[in-house]
Amino acid sequence: MKAAPFEYARAASLAEACELLATHGDGAKLIAGGQSLVPMMAMRLVRPAFLIDINEIAALKSVKVESDAVCIGACTRQCSLERDDALAARVSLLRQALAWVGHAQTRNRGTVGGSLAHADPSAELPLVARVLGARLVIRSKKGNRTLDAAQFFTGPMSTALRPDECLEEIRWPVWPEKRTGSAFTEIAERHGDFAIVSATAQVALDGGGRCVRAAFGLGGVGGTPLSFPKLAARLAGTKLDDAVIEDAAQAAVADTEPGNDLHATAEYRRHLAGVLAAKALREAHERARTAA
Ligand SMILES: Cc1cc2nc3c(=O)[nH]c(=O)nc-3n(C[C@H](O)[C@H](O)[C@H](O)COP(=O)(O)OP(=O)(O)OC[C@H]3O[C@@H](n4cnc5c(N)ncnc54)[C@H](O)[C@@H]3O)c2cc1C
Repeated sequence: MKAAPFEYARAASLAEACELLATHGDGAKLIAGGQSLVPMMAMRLVRPAFLIDINEIAALKSVKVESDAVCIGACTRQCSLERDDALAARVSLLRQALAWVGHAQTRNRGTVGGSLAHADPSAELPLVARVLGARLVIRSKKGNRTLDAAQFFTGPMSTALRPDECLEEIRWPVWPEKRTGSAFTEIAERHGDFAIVSATAQVALDGGGRCVRAAFGLGGVGGTPLSFPKLAARLAGTKLDDAVIEDAAQAAVADTEPGNDLHATAEYRRHLAGVLAAKALREAHERARTAA
């Protein structure tokens, strides 16, 4: 099929994009990398009357490393983050997660903001945003506001973004602890497909090898990516041995409500969630243990 007819404008600035969004309201959609939007338009799952292209807006492509956060413009291509060593040294989970996002070709066009705004419950970057507690800066003609990832994702393919808003920047927290390790893992039918279930974890250790901070989460087992801050807090002070990790993983699974679909049963998703949550925690722990 082909997309339904639409009008198109290329915005030269964020202010112009917001002006166009305010004018064309519900009928308008922003287009970034087009890796999700174009196939959906071609299948007529969405029929925007007006497309606003944000690819030429330089302000949406900046990457700033601050002391406590890495701030990434929403229209930054996934491939440029993948190659950024300075960024990987600060927020290693981004590079680890990106290796699972689609294919090199889709990452060449796909943007960080497009992935978050699309909000597929199995997508990798939304899960990392949720687990690390990323902050999302949102702009409209009326001004800007900032939301936590926990507030941003509201359901399958749905977010707190209003029709006149553009995601401007994502602030990914940098953990200060030297001995920090992270991991991302998933099971998909084929490499490059969306995950059936994904899991991620980040762990920081003290000099004696005890956990001082942990965060972990699961994708593909609910309408939004999930993180488990209360369970993660209970890991602080422990040695993160296999029994502790297994307990945390199983407790997390008990907090999920996966559905049945063409790809997997709820029971299989729960099984994968337990295995993958434990694997992510073990790998993150091992990397923290051997971190310089
Ligand atoms: C073959 C294939 C495999 C894929 N596999 C995966 C995968 O494994 N994991 C994965 O996560 N993704 C996967 N994707 C999807 C993809 O590559 C992107 O990561 C992402 O979903 C869309 O990013 P984009 O920049 O292309 O956004 P677009 O397609 O341009 O836009 C997606 C949505 O976000 C909105 N949007 C875009 N930018 C903004 C903004 N700044 N503010 C507000 N709204 C905005 C658009 O209006 C639209 O609704 C795959 C895609 C293909 C084609």
